[in-house]
Amino acid sequence: MTIRYDGRVAIVTGAGAGLGRQHALLLGSRGAKVVVNDPGGSVDGRGGANAAADAVVAEIRAAGGEAVANYASVADAEAAAGIVQTALDTWGRLDILVNNAGVLRDKSFHKLELSDFEFVVKVHLLGSVYVTRAAWPVMREQRYGRIVVTTSISGSVGNFGQSNYGAAKMGLLGLMNCLQFEGASYNIKINAISPSARTRMTEELLPEAVLKWMHPELISPAVAWMCSEGCEASGEIIWAAAGNYARVKYLQSQGVQFDPSQPVTPEMFADALPQIMSLERPMDHSGAFRQLEENLKRFVS
Ligand code: NAD
Repeated sequence: MTIRYDGRVAIVTGAGAGLGRQHALLLGSRGAKVVVNDPGGSVDGRGGANAAADAVVAEIRAAGGEAVANYASVADAEAAAGIVQTALDTWGRLDILVNNAGVLRDKSFHKLELSDFEFVVKVHLLGSVYVTRAAWPVMREQRYGRIVVTTSISGSVGNFGQSNYGAAKMGLLGLMNCLQFEGASYNIKINAISPSARTRMTEELLPEAVLKWMHPELISPAVAWMCSEGCEASGEIIWAAAGNYARVKYLQSQGVQFDPSQPVTPEMFADALPQIMSLERPMDHSGAFRQLEENLKRFVS
C-alpha cells in the first residue's frame, strides 16, 4: 500500500527548518499541496526572515510538488488563522494540519522570567490552539481532517531547565486527548508525535554518539502516517527517534481500594503506599473509571 495525499491540502507550521521542513518535503513529494509556514528567526524565537519558508517552498516545487509560503507567527491568533486562510485562498480546502512550530527558552525555574515562560507556552501550546481552532470548522464541515501535535519527552518525563517547554508540550497532549472525542464523529483524527532528532534545538543537548543517528527525516514517516487517510488512530502518542518508533501510554498501578463508606486516614494511605506505587501489574490509565466501577461492586450502599 502506497501512502499518498493527492488532492489533499496540508499546513505544516514551523516548516522552514528542522523537523517541519522534513514533514513538508515528505508530504509534498507524495502529492499534498503544502502551506509552508515559518516566520524564520533564531531557536529562541527572536528575529525572522522569509527566506526559511521560501527555501522549502522552492525545494518542494523543484521536486515537482506544489507549495506556498506563509510567514505568520503561530503565536499571534489572528495571523495563525491567516495560515488556514492561505490554504483556503490558494487551494480551496484544508485536510492536514501539522502543528510543529517551536522555540526554546531554557533556564532553571528560579531564573526563568515569566515572560519567557509565557512566550514558550504561547508558541507551542496556544500557537497550536490558534491554528487548530481556525482549521476545525473547515475540517468539521468537510467531515475530514488529520491533525498532528508535536509533544516532547521533556514534558512527559521532564528535563532540567525546561519547565516552560515541558508544560507547553504536556498541554498539547491535554488538547489532543479532548479533541479526539470532539473530532470523532467528523472523521477528524488527532495524534501526537514525540520526536527526538538532530536539529538546531538539540545540537547542544545530546552527545555526538547519539546525535549522529538522529536524522530528522526519520521522524517524518510517523507524522506522514498520522496525516494519511488510512490513519484510523486518534489520541495516540508515537515516540520517534533514530529509526525507533513506539506507542506511548499512561500507566496506572492496581493501587488499593478502601471501603468508600468509611473514612480514610493519611496513615492508611501511607501504609498502602507499596501497593499504590507498585507497577507490577499496570493497567492503561484510560481504563481508570471502568476499573473503579468494577472495584465498587464489592461494596453495598
Ligand atoms: P527547529 O528550531 O529546527 O524548527 C522549529 C521551527 O519552528 C523553526 O523553523 C522556527 O522558525 C519555527 N518557528 C518558531 N517560532 C515560530 C512561530 N511563532 N510560528 C511559526 N513557526 C515558528 O526545531 P525542531 O527540532 O525541528 O523542532 C520542531 C518541533 O519538534 C518543535 O515543536 C519542537 O519542540 C519539537 N521537538 C523537537 C525535538 C528534537 O529532538 N528536535 C524533540 C522534541 C520535540
